[in-house]
Amino acid sequence: QIKKHSLDTDYEVNDKNVLGLGINGKVLGCTNRKTGQKCALKVIFCWISEESLNLLTNLHTETTLADCEKARREVDLHWRASGCKHIVCICDVYENVFKNRRCLVIVMERMQGGELFNVIQERAESPFTEREAAGVMRDIGSAVKYLHDITIAHRDVKPENLLYSAIGPDRILKLTDFGFAKPTTSYNSLNTPCYTPYYVAPEVLGPEHYDKSCDMWSIGVIMYILLCGFPPFYSHQGLSISPGMKKRIRNGQYSFPDPWSAVSDEAKSLIRHLLNTDPVKRMTINDFMKHPWVSLDPPVSTKSSIMPITIYHPIMRLVYIKCEETAIMTSQGVSVVPQTPLFSARVLREEEAQWPEVGIHVNNKILFLLYVFRDEMANALATMRVDFDQVTPIKNLEIANNKLLQKRKKRVAS
Ligand code: ADP
Repeated sequence: QIKKHSLDTDYEVNDKNVLGLGINGKVLGCTNRKTGQKCALKVIFCWISEESLNLLTNLHTETTLADCEKARREVDLHWRASGCKHIVCICDVYENVFKNRRCLVIVMERMQGGELFNVIQERAESPFTEREAAGVMRDIGSAVKYLHDITIAHRDVKPENLLYSAIGPDRILKLTDFGFAKPTTSYNSLNTPCYTPYYVAPEVLGPEHYDKSCDMWSIGVIMYILLCGFPPFYSHQGLSISPGMKKRIRNGQYSFPDPWSAVSDEAKSLIRHLLNTDPVKRMTINDFMKHPWVSLDPPVSTKSSIMPITIYHPIMRLVYIKCEETAIMTSQGVSVVPQTPLFSARVLREEEAQWPEVGIHVNNKILFLLYVFRDEMANALATMRVDFDQVTPIKNLEIANNKLLQKRKKRVAS
């Protein structure tokens, strides 16, 4: 249902109201002229008019058409997912021409509450607790489950794509940006990929499971940061993605240093399942949503048996609260996620305010500012994404016509 008439007829666009910057350009604020609803618009791709297209070489035409297809796929998949409470809703899509370039414009509900980590970082009134973190993870999990259930892998689940609908207690956390989303069933099993992208040969797994497992890895990383304030993997040189960091991701080399002693064992065990280096063994979204740490609703009345002890961390120069108990029992004897005050909000805040750009030292390790990590996570996800339809299959050895192979075959035969 792409509208062809001018966007301007239905929406008032304010060029100066820039809501965010993405790889495709600015996301602008706009207002529905009829209803007054405040929305956000994203021009996801401009492609050249048909007249200009004829003048292009074949090579350019191919690229342009591939980009068009990609843009339409983003709109299509985002539209299909729009029914989920935890996914940013599309209001309208337009195909318009600006300056001889055709543009696909997505008009979305405006997310006025900001990005997930900024909201946690800016919270001053009370500490962010483990139980709240579980609630946030349940919301993110709901979005991913909705997508996986309708055979879509998002493949770009990261902090800046998680936005709050509003400021205040009624805000809803929602996932956005379907630029890398993919239907997970379009795989032609004859096109067996020829290389190992990350952790395991994808042919062992098949793209459906592989693409979905990228989302689960992202969930693990976000959960880790939520609970402590710093990422599980980081580059020691402050590079976006260093060989060392790639190796650590591949080998699953991360730890739970000091501040983690306050966090429940259930949460740590869940992270281990999510960051499992083997995508075959990595937790699926259904298991994640069923896990007690995620699924148990906070009971209406629970007596907290937590004994907070204030600890001064000598290296982090922070004060944080350690709790004696990591789980509370309800009157029915069910264990629920503890209300342990977390130290993540403070780490996120302190990192921004006090620490030099290069990084901070914790337990002889360097932690980098979250914005450096943004690039790291984006790059790690880029390395994991495999477009199976574009991968060249391995040639059958019997029919391969490679000179070196022929030579070796002859040698073996002789
Ligand atoms: P791109 O795909 O070009 O990277 P995104 O969809 O990720 O663009 O959007 C870039 C930024 O714009 C986001 O990180 C966010 O800050 C802001 N943004 C995106 N969608 C909305 C929205 N619906 N409401 C408010 N801000 C938004």
